[in-house]
Amino acid sequence: MKSAIVLGAGMIGVATALHLQQRGWSIVLLDRKEPGRETSYVNAGIIQSEAVRPYEMSHDWREIANIALGRCNKVRYHLAALPRHLGPLLGYWWHSFPVRHARASEAYAQIIGCAAREHEVFIRQSNARHLIRRDGFRFLYRQQSAFEEAVAAAESLRQAYGVKFSPMSPSDLKKAEPALADAGVGALHWLEPWAALDPGALVSAYADLFMRLGGRIVRGDAQSLAKTGSGWSVIADDGRMEAEAAVVALGPWSPDLLKRFGYWFPMVRKRGYYRHYAGGSRLDVPLCDPANGYVLAPMAKGARITTGAELAAPGAKPDFSQLAHAEQAAGKLIMLGRPLEPEPGYGTRPCMPDMLPVVGAAPRHRGLWLHFGHGHQGFTLGPATGRVIAELMNNEVSMTNPLPYRPERYCI
Ligand SMILES: Cc1cc2nc3c(=O)[nH]c(=O)nc-3n(C[C@H](O)[C@H](O)[C@H](O)COP(=O)(O)OP(=O)(O)OC[C@H]3O[C@@H](n4cnc5c(N)ncnc54)[C@H](O)[C@@H]3O)c2cc1C
Repeated sequence: MKSAIVLGAGMIGVATALHLQQRGWSIVLLDRKEPGRETSYVNAGIIQSEAVRPYEMSHDWREIANIALGRCNKVRYHLAALPRHLGPLLGYWWHSFPVRHARASEAYAQIIGCAAREHEVFIRQSNARHLIRRDGFRFLYRQQSAFEEAVAAAESLRQAYGVKFSPMSPSDLKKAEPALADAGVGALHWLEPWAALDPGALVSAYADLFMRLGGRIVRGDAQSLAKTGSGWSVIADDGRMEAEAAVVALGPWSPDLLKRFGYWFPMVRKRGYYRHYAGGSRLDVPLCDPANGYVLAPMAKGARITTGAELAAPGAKPDFSQLAHAEQAAGKLIMLGRPLEPEPGYGTRPCMPDMLPVVGAAPRHRGLWLHFGHGHQGFTLGPATGRVIAELMNNEVSMTNPLPYRPERYCI
């Protein structure tokens, strides 16, 4: 029986473990925490079938000036942290030019197109239907020009990829979401996305399925990964484990581990904050307020706000100003209620400069596999790219062309 140690029990690691297990592999899943307690917990929980084009960096000088002047809540930065981000950001800028972005989108649309279907299999097998709503995801617009631009962009996605959406007038939106005090100038309803009512619980449900089918989850430090004569080993809390293969699925922490093996992966680490609110009014489906850079999602615990991107140094003290701005704007839309956590939490989107995840074999280490860098859509993509890496490891023909994701594009 083939064996592997999967490092990291976020959405990406758990999905990898399940796909390998279903191909007859013996798998140990290692994390320093319970499954799904980091980035895969913190997010807006949307399985984003509409995100067929990865989020590029804006080349619009007005928007860049607004970010530079701290006037944009969608993206914030700390001057002292910028030198650390500069190289990956320049790469991101380069890959955001239309020709390169279009190339990335070709691959992205294919893998995003598989995402809900792959989740569905795990949702069914893990009896997690109660955690999923299938009513889409809305964007609220406050300016007519922004609304018209969004509808035109959505129409071009519909024509290119068949993505389904419906424009809504303010009265349509008020009817659908009576709790809203302000319906702006209109909304765009993406009809196909699904929403998890508790993203961490969905990862836990998948992890429970993995254990029920005989998988092992252990606590330990992935930094203990070492090459052995014929494979790989780690030191878990309950002893040393060995397997013929190891998969690095440590989300934003992946490049740190890989430096030890001589691989230098550039990553744009975009921090995002979250907080829950209870006792207020409730939305029916998640709502993005792009002018204020946040998503307000109805979750099992209450309403959850998640913020846009903050470029902070790794380990930097949290700066809650982005969330405070979002909280204020959301408080004008609905009765938010009281915050549940004494302090907001945060996580880090692991974004690769070319906006595509890394999925494939480490170029210079036999049996070492890489699966990280899913950026803004890792919660969506875990089961789909998890299948791709399992197919590669198992020498199967992959359900989608794996070449755009190969690690060699960053390191040889
Ligand atoms: C605010 C916000 C909103 C988002 N909204 C969405 C959304 O709506 N839809 C969507 O698709 N995506 C969304 N994302 C992105 C998505 O959450 C991530 O892409 C995804 O969770 C990444 O999963 P992962 O498994 O790679 O990382 P993680 O979930 O972070 O998992 C990595 C695991 O590695 C473990 N680990 C790290 N270092 C070590 C070590 N040394 N030893 C042992 N274990 C270790 C961690 O404990 C963790 O469990 C959002 C992200 C943020 C921040």
